[in-house]
Amino acid sequence: MKRRLPALRLKRGREAAWSHPWIFKGDVADVSDVEPGAAVTIVDSAGRFVGRGFYNPRPALCCRVLTWTDEPLDTALLQRRLGSAIAFRSRGAPGGLPALCRLVWSEADGLPGLVVDRYGPILIVQCLTLGMARLRPSIADALARLLDDAPVFAADEDAAARLEGFEAVRGWIRGAGSETVEVSEDGVRFVVTLGAGHKTGLYLDQRENHARLAGLAAGRDVLDAFCYTAGFACHALRAGARRAVCIESSPEAIAAARRNLALNGVGARAEIVAANVFDELRRLERTGSRFGVVVLDPPPFARTRSALPAAARGYKEINLRALRLLEPGGSLFTFSCSHHVSDALFEDICREAAADARLPLRIVSRLAQAADHPVLLNVPETRYLKGLHLQAP
Ligand code: SAH
Repeated sequence: MKRRLPALRLKRGREAAWSHPWIFKGDVADVSDVEPGAAVTIVDSAGRFVGRGFYNPRPALCCRVLTWTDEPLDTALLQRRLGSAIAFRSRGAPGGLPALCRLVWSEADGLPGLVVDRYGPILIVQCLTLGMARLRPSIADALARLLDDAPVFAADEDAAARLEGFEAVRGWIRGAGSETVEVSEDGVRFVVTLGAGHKTGLYLDQRENHARLAGLAAGRDVLDAFCYTAGFACHALRAGARRAVCIESSPEAIAAARRNLALNGVGARAEIVAANVFDELRRLERTGSRFGVVVLDPPPFARTRSALPAAARGYKEINLRALRLLEPGGSLFTFSCSHHVSDALFEDICREAAADARLPLRIVSRLAQAADHPVLLNVPETRYLKGLHLQAP
């Protein structure tokens, strides 16, 4: 006889899980007694099969649907999903799977709670849910089978682990190697210290925008505000920018930025200012500084919906100040990675800043996260990084 999985029954009228993978505690009518992080069958209020996911009573987002098909959540499913994630990134890429890429991006690859990045010869795995953390050994095995036994490093985030109630793992979980790895992003070199810094080490979501900026940096002075490890500045300087000023407040990020600039042989043309961007933009304005290209890539100002008004003021302020630093014909690359700030709202904020700066700006392009962070039509939250390339007259 087939073993019946514990079931999670949705409330009537709270059945968005038919098409969206997130189930919140308030959506749940009842759930059988189940070990935290274990698989459950999701049914609607009438008892009809909806899908399967891992249940965790601890966070408000208590279950994420992994499948809407009546199939087990087993290693075969994991292997299939990983296989199609790899196929998606390999398709159309000249040499097959890129050496530096996001291989698995959670919901967008049908594996909510799992992130896998490829940094040249090694893989970095991040588990963001208890369900995925419990699967970690199978994930490492499946990746090894699919990708020639590449060593795998775990780099969980403390915040997610705390929220979900598991021990964050940081270290090798398959094979081993040096804890620093050098990678090339379109020929620009970066050193990544495994398990340190933000995300899995680099902002891989900005890869395509780094390249765009490089395309117009030659001969210009560039301001890289919120530079982290100098992703934009390294690209701009390698592409022939005259000079780059980087602003960053984290000492660890500054040390890594300095190392990357030196590694690319462009350190002499770069200046790193250890400061709060809000203060430094004001100071640059006072001293009459001007730049041909300005990048604003701040952390998410709105982590919750209630933080939106304050976040909007923050975005407007940095954009207004950045616009005042632009040379005639200069370009501003401005971003928001806050889930709660929509494209329309971000554009409104930039429009207000441009009005205050009295600049009739042209939208050269609308920017987004790199294509290996795909967006799901039914999960608008997967489109989180938005940006504008604006040009002054
Ligand atoms: N542009 C980078 C990623 C930026 S991440 C890239 O392409 O790699 C945002 C960075 O802003 C982080 O490194 C963070 O330490 C820094 N930061 C956050 N608030 C800041 C502030 N008020 N002033 C200066 N830096 C800040």
